[in-house]
Amino acid sequence: MLTRSALIYLSRREGLKDFAARFSLFKKLTTRFIAGENIDEAVAAIREINARGCSASFDHLNESVGSAAEAEAEVREYLDVLAQIDQTGINSNVSIKLTQFGLGLDPELAYRNARRVVEDAARRRNFVRVDMEDSAVTQATIDLFKRLRAEFGLNEVGIVVQSYLYRTMDDARDLLKIPARIRLCKGAYNEPAEVAYPDKKDVDGNYVRVMQLLLSSGTYHGIATHDPKMIDATVDFAQREGIAKEAFEFQMLYGIRRDLQEQLARDGYGMRVYVPYGKHWYPYFMRRLAERPANIWFVLKNFLKG
Ligand SMILES: Cc1cc2nc3c(=O)[nH]c(=O)nc-3n(C[C@H](O)[C@H](O)[C@H](O)COP(=O)(O)OP(=O)(O)OC[C@H]3O[C@@H](n4cnc5c(N)ncnc54)[C@H](O)[C@@H]3O)c2cc1C
Repeated sequence: MLTRSALIYLSRREGLKDFAARFSLFKKLTTRFIAGENIDEAVAAIREINARGCSASFDHLNESVGSAAEAEAEVREYLDVLAQIDQTGINSNVSIKLTQFGLGLDPELAYRNARRVVEDAARRRNFVRVDMEDSAVTQATIDLFKRLRAEFGLNEVGIVVQSYLYRTMDDARDLLKIPARIRLCKGAYNEPAEVAYPDKKDVDGNYVRVMQLLLSSGTYHGIATHDPKMIDATVDFAQREGIAKEAFEFQMLYGIRRDLQEQLARDGYGMRVYVPYGKHWYPYFMRRLAERPANIWFVLKNFLKG
């Protein structure tokens, strides 16, 4: 049986990525989690999401780019996405990864690239969420975010924290002082016990504590999870503390717990769906398989059906 860490390890194997990308049947199986290969397909998916009462966030799939030219192409893609949001009138913001903009090559390059996207989003009154990647870049991501936030508004750029990291409560307190809009998630990468809780119950316990801190802060945050226990804890805490439904939003991934997405939207909560699209779907897809081994059977079943 493939374990979570084995799947996350495989998500980083470049050779497999190329193999899988050429294998068109494998690609077809990704459609549950990935909205398409180009902007038009993602826009069509977001129209449907909007029609179900949910907002969205574009994610152009690519991470750890290998050259400044590739990072430049990512900036252009996001500028195009922001223009498309305005032209089509869909309800969506954008999510970016700093390694996609060259963080691994040169932090200054990543800063300049991210800045261009945030500047354009701000001009259009839209919002850029800086995703959080693995712990090797946590500090660099926070540092770069703070530089952006010093220049742009609370409602123009936000960040993500992961409850599996020991450092996250301190990071959240620090970021709230700025203040900053934060997305709280559990964390999707393979992390050693030196930096992250190895046990799910501790990740969940920290999630609830950080959620309570965020909701009490008076700033608008995103509670990103498909876990009914985390959702119930959030709803209960908000009700107990008299925090309005409009004071925060829930967030979920494209293709996961659509029933729960619709239920929360019907109950009057803000619900944002994260919509990944693009040709570089391999690592994202493998992380989704790692989160829930049953997904492997879903994929294999479809594979065998042809
Ligand atoms: C909007 C959004 C943005 C995110 N951004 C980031 C980020 O920037 N950085 C980062 O590290 N992580 C990010 N993540 C991923 C996150 O860290 C988790 O890996 C992921 O959400 C699974 O955790 P969970 O809270 O759903 O709880 P889990 O305990 O993993 O899952 C709870 C239940 O949710 C359902 N579920 C969860 N995952 C899946 C799946 N893949 N397929 C089918 N069902 C599933 C299952 O029913 C499962 O029992 C994001 C998640 C969301 C929703």
